Amino acid sequence: MAEPTVNINLDNPTEVARETLRRLAMRRIAPTPDNYQTLYEEIVGKPAAAGAVASAASVLAELATDLQTHYPALSNQAANLHKAIGKSDWRQCSFLLSEIAVQLKQQPGDGKDRPRADKDRPARSIDLGAAAPEDNLALLRELLSKTLEFGMASQLSHAPRLAEKTQQIAVAVRGAHSDLALRDVAASLKSLWVSIEMQSSDAQQQQEMLKRILLLLVENIGELLDDDTWLRGQLDMVQQVVAGPLKIQSLQEAEKRLKEVIYKQGMVKHGLREATATLKATMTTFVSRMSDAVAANDEYQGKIASHIERISSTEDVLELNRILESLLEETRTAQADSRRAHDQLVEERDTALQAESRIKQLETELAQMSALVREDPMTRSLNRRGLDDEFTREAARADRYDTPFSIAVLDVDNFKALNDKRGHQTGDEALIHLVKVAKEELRITDHIARMGGEEFLIILPNTPLDEAARIITRLQRSLTKKYFLDNNERVLITFSAGVAERAAGEPQESTIERADSAMYEAKHSGKNRVCLAPQASAPAAE
Ligand code: GH3
Ligand code: MG
Ligand code: MG
Repeated sequence: MAEPTVNINLDNPTEVARETLRRLAMRRIAPTPDNYQTLYEEIVGKPAAAGAVASAASVLAELATDLQTHYPALSNQAANLHKAIGKSDWRQCSFLLSEIAVQLKQQPGDGKDRPRADKDRPARSIDLGAAAPEDNLALLRELLSKTLEFGMASQLSHAPRLAEKTQQIAVAVRGAHSDLALRDVAASLKSLWVSIEMQSSDAQQQQEMLKRILLLLVENIGELLDDDTWLRGQLDMVQQVVAGPLKIQSLQEAEKRLKEVIYKQGMVKHGLREATATLKATMTTFVSRMSDAVAANDEYQGKIASHIERISSTEDVLELNRILESLLEETRTAQADSRRAHDQLVEERDTALQAESRIKQLETELAQMSALVREDPMTRSLNRRGLDDEFTREAARADRYDTPFSIAVLDVDNFKALNDKRGHQTGDEALIHLVKVAKEELRITDHIARMGGEEFLIILPNTPLDEAARIITRLQRSLTKKYFLDNNERVLITFSAGVAERAAGEPQESTIERADSAMYEAKHSGKNRVCLAPQASAPAAE
């Protein structure tokens, strides 16, 4: 089938990796590292180089075979050349080729002008058979310069200076007709290898440095998280992924995890901020009530003091009586005031406690999101742990009874736009709605799990690929009937899906990866559709 062209940003490794996976899926090519790399390079624009390397390598291999049959004395070098071609070790290839060239030159009769570098080596006599030596040498020169041009220069596109130098040496090789010129070329080649080695160790150092910085960052985020188990779990996974060898897929996985952490952190911060605001407001009231109470008390004390003065300065019993009466009256008022103040204090304290327990509750809710829980609390679908459990159970059952078993990866279309237009709350409700409809439409034996964000996985036990695709398409159709209501407004939720049938014994990640690729294919070919993953090829030996 014709492959639709897709606009991708070549500077974005994630996009290129997605596109690579998509092409693997579309062309039904086994996802081996080599195939991955070939397609990857095809996308970033090195197809000619790859082809040229392949054909240069095969020409070189032919030459090695030729040498083996016609020049027994060179059979060691020829065998080594075979090995080096097999490992794409072009540096070793050029080394061997120049060695072979020098030895061919040493044939009897031409040995008087032997290269200086060979003085210490035992002289070897070479049976050149009937072949004309100049022809052989010319052929070798041509092969060496082709190897340099197509095999090496094209691999050095990241270091233009070195690529140019390689091209220059290739030209020099073609013109190296004397021993002196050959030695010059050999010297330039040597210095080129050294530069290439330094260049690649530079790039590796840079990569290692970036990795260390990233790990440091992730570790530091970890420090800020106290003992929030869910977030910590996510970060641990990021750390694990980054600590391994850097591959596009693992970087993608790390990016996905970090996105989830950032999103969840945003949510929690919001909740905690609200609860803290309530607590602060309550504290303010509490303090002002307390100062009111103290003020009332002061007033009472003041009155008492003045009464005491009046008491001390009067001798009049009637007057004293009056003072006593008003004293009693004021004490009673003060008591009532202070009781009221007390009640208010108790009330404020209760509100403060409530706010505090709300914070605690929020914290526990977060803790429940940890890997210990099987369910996603918001949508009530399975979480990753629940998904792992069910997948393992169903996979074992399928293997035991030899029944088909399919899965589907769903990703809501344009969900960010929905969030942006109608708010996160509505976004959440849309996800809840989707899971509700899915549960109604799917069979009782099927499971739906949230893989993160707006991405879901549906497990369809005892179901072959085409039937699984029918079921998911049916779910898509039913979402157009059971539409989602936001403030009495009908909102159509669509999703793109990839369906894959698990091959017997196939590991979980592999099946999910295939479904995921098919889902990306659905996205790339216009969204709101279901794409089928090609059947898994026999497990490839890594
Ligand atoms: P596409 O059609 O290509 O899938 O585009 P998209 O917008 O759906 O995908 P993208 O990955 O760009 O955006 C997904 C958004 O989903 C980003 C994130 O803010 C939001 N999101 C993730 N989890 C949740 C959640 O639990 N609730 C809400 N409301 N939004 C979420
Ligand atoms: Mg989406
Ligand atoms: Mg998504």
